[in-house]
Amino acid sequence: MIRFEQVGKRYPDGTTAVDGLSFEVSEGELVTLVGPSGCGKTTTVMMVNRLIEPTSGRILVGGEDVATVDPVRLRRRIGYVIQQVGLFPHRTVLDNTATVPSLVGWKRARARARAAELLDLVGLDPRTYGPRYPHQLSGGQRQRVGVARALAADPPVLLMDEPFGAVDPVVREQLQDEFLRMQAAVRKTVLMVTHDIEEAVRLGDRIAVYGQGRIEQFDTPAAVLGTP
Ligand code: ADP
Ligand code: ADP
Repeated sequence: MIRFEQVGKRYPDGTTAVDGLSFEVSEGELVTLVGPSGCGKTTTVMMVNRLIEPTSGRILVGGEDVATVDPVRLRRRIGYVIQQVGLFPHRTVLDNTATVPSLVGWKRARARARAAELLDLVGLDPRTYGPRYPHQLSGGQRQRVGVARALAADPPVLLMDEPFGAVDPVVREQLQDEFLRMQAAVRKTVLMVTHDIEEAVRLGDRIAVYGQGRIEQFDTPAAVLGTP
């Protein structure tokens, strides 16, 4: 579903963030990217939705080269969740969740009904939380809204960059549990960045272990843990 072919990214200042990345993520598979800060994980993920352009190689999503896909179509097909999701402060939780369906032209009633469904899926009662504003939520609840928003247009692919990184450990574990439950139901193809090896092992079907600018190991959690 996601395929990297010899992908490299060199920033204009000469920094090589990643080099010669080749890997594949199957449909419905959750791959965690783990490794120290600065090794190229965020760059990898942001090239999939073209927030960053690779300087070499190509990336295919569902067999299509993302460099040539219409940006609106790409937005609809790829959900994106970052560490501190930026919700629109003056829009309700329900309207925030309906952002992408609205952007891609769904009718208002359909977009809002879908948003309510998604809030429910991430464990927020839409009747209680839908009418609230982002500042009336906890950090963990805001991340859930971010996940709901990313899934609202039902994209086959979900990119997550430290989605649970900014919440305390207890809430993080709760969000991980809920995410696993949700993923079992919706089976998205997921690329998730984390610097937390425990999270990578807990959530990943496979793990991409990064060294500086490249993947050193790409295997199941058991195989990664079994390495001396
Ligand atoms: P990670 O997500 O693993 O922390 P990043 O992908 O953010 O790594 O960064 C990889 C490397 O690219 C780092 O050395 C970082 O400093 C560098 N980098 C990231 N963004 C830019 C940029 N816009 N310009 C120059 N260098 C960058
Ligand atoms: P607007 O079109 O109103 O400027 P934004 O570009 O701010 O909207 O996008 C709205 C939200 O959608 C953002 O806060 C962000 O989390 C999410 N988003 C932004 N870019 C992408 C993308 N390439 N793929 C998926 N979601 C995205």
